[in-house]
Amino acid sequence: MAPIDPHSFTDSTHPLTTHIHLSFYFDFPSSTIHSSALLSLSSPHSGPLFLDIRSLTVHSVLDPQTRNPLPYSLSEPDPIKGQNLVVSLSNHSSVLVVYSTTPASSALQWLNPPQTFNKTSPFVYTQCQSIHARAVFPCQDTPAARICYSARMNIPRQLSAVMSARHVDRRPPVAGEGAALPCGDALWCAEGRLVEEFVMEQPIPPYLFAFAVGELGSRDVGPRTRVYSESAPAVLEAAAAEFAGTEDMIRQGERLFGDYEWERFDLLVLPPSFPYGGMENPRMVFLTPTVIKGNASGAQVVAHELAHSWTGNLITNKTNEHFWLNEGFTTYAERRIVEVVQGEERAALNIGIGWRGLNEEMERFSDNMEFTKLKTKQEGVDPDDVYSQVPYEKGFQFLWRIEREVGRPVFDEFLKKYIATFKFKSIDTEMFLEFLKTNIPGIETKIDLVLWTEGTGIPPDAFEPISNIYTKIVTLANEFKAGRMPGEDEVADWQGQEWELYLENLPKSVEASQILALDARYRLSESKDYEVKVAFLQLAISSGCSQYHGEVERTLKEVGRMKYLRPLYTALVQGNGRQEEKIFAKRVFAEARDCYHPIAQGVVESIFSKHM
Ligand SMILES: [Zn+2]
Repeated sequence: MAPIDPHSFTDSTHPLTTHIHLSFYFDFPSSTIHSSALLSLSSPHSGPLFLDIRSLTVHSVLDPQTRNPLPYSLSEPDPIKGQNLVVSLSNHSSVLVVYSTTPASSALQWLNPPQTFNKTSPFVYTQCQSIHARAVFPCQDTPAARICYSARMNIPRQLSAVMSARHVDRRPPVAGEGAALPCGDALWCAEGRLVEEFVMEQPIPPYLFAFAVGELGSRDVGPRTRVYSESAPAVLEAAAAEFAGTEDMIRQGERLFGDYEWERFDLLVLPPSFPYGGMENPRMVFLTPTVIKGNASGAQVVAHELAHSWTGNLITNKTNEHFWLNEGFTTYAERRIVEVVQGEERAALNIGIGWRGLNEEMERFSDNMEFTKLKTKQEGVDPDDVYSQVPYEKGFQFLWRIEREVGRPVFDEFLKKYIATFKFKSIDTEMFLEFLKTNIPGIETKIDLVLWTEGTGIPPDAFEPISNIYTKIVTLANEFKAGRMPGEDEVADWQGQEWELYLENLPKSVEASQILALDARYRLSESKDYEVKVAFLQLAISSGCSQYHGEVERTLKEVGRMKYLRPLYTALVQGNGRQEEKIFAKRVFAEARDCYHPIAQGVVESIFSKHM
């Protein structure tokens, strides 16, 4: 007996779950889902079966055929993994768990009407990556265990449900469906309720399980793409305009990697508390509203999530220790799509921003270089705490290095074959390297594969991009250090990314007077583009400009995207002294906390505990 994943209780000697049928009764007033999960195993099993759960109240475990109770026990909670639900089976090939979620579920964010755009109805949504599916349903919560599922969602009639699955029906509740649930049949069939049904026939790792329930509207933007958001015409129109080019990107993706295997590519724009830029939930990508900038630049986040349809969702890392297989490949693919759709200069700019980010991560992890490796050891480590640009950007650099070595046509053939070989499988770094060496013989004599995958830091043959815009921006940033501000003509055609790159290439801390002068001329603190605004505010904080605290506070209360929370809170609290900033950060967090997803709350708390 041995665990197959450092973040799961799943045991190597137990059969894996192949299908889960879920019944959910959403009780918004108590922020609770009353549920049952019917798990089907790959083969009959006798003895203990280990399932991951976190913040769930288990009411009973039953034999699905006889409805007789099955013995079970719960381990003491582990701070990272949650609890091991140990069920005793005797030649069973399925098991029914009756349970309720609790308001503490780390996967779910429940929004009161005032926290939504329309302010009239509640909203709930999931974020299951990395290890939060277990806070929605009991499962073998490791990406090594792919599952299909079906779901019955009982919701208030004025709301609608979406899932990263195929929608089957919206209908009245049927008597008897709720009998086995903790809520009972009377509530299930009560006036004002209805049921939405979904099926997911393509096997997914549990972290790609996703739903949202709220007052939703939608617009078609392509033959296989519909944009969903809160049902507000302004939000829907803006989203539809921003993502109008999606079909074009899907075609580019197919040209690069082969058929799109998930049928639909819908987009869901969430309320501002969504903790990530995007989440690649299959069939329906979840997006932060901050990517809607009115200039189609949000398309880049969509390009990334789309690329996951092949790398990450079709081929999945076996455990989070090989996360670069998901994100390095996807970052590479994203830039290939951007290159075709938006041009080489734009792609080079993205590589440049990534290069800057990678170098900054080396400083962040200077006391823990393990997390500058591609393949990491994560026993006892919370994946949310060590989330960084390394798997994205170092992974990208590794693949780009291979491309430069063998040439693009050869590498493209390799990519197609890689995807065709491993689709709907979960693999690790060793399997990738074996496949690479088999298909590109002698590659290990040209590139130090061990240094790239197991070494710390940035290998010497990594590459800073060469492009006119990139070089010009970095030069201008260097000149700022000597006191020269860019002229209006030099920045006339800059979009958000140009400013972002410029600001990130400035020194960590500059004279307060320089910050004020820059802002007086270019109004960066008021930018509608959060990437620009946050990069500027971060610089302002570390340069000791406390006059921007008002803008920092507004930003931290407006959005819950961790890409912004992490640098702003870190800039406020890191370093010695800074008592005023620390008190300020604590107050803002106390007031904003309820607007953040539980995963983001945890991340801010861990920044505080590291620096205070
Ligand atoms: Zn990604």
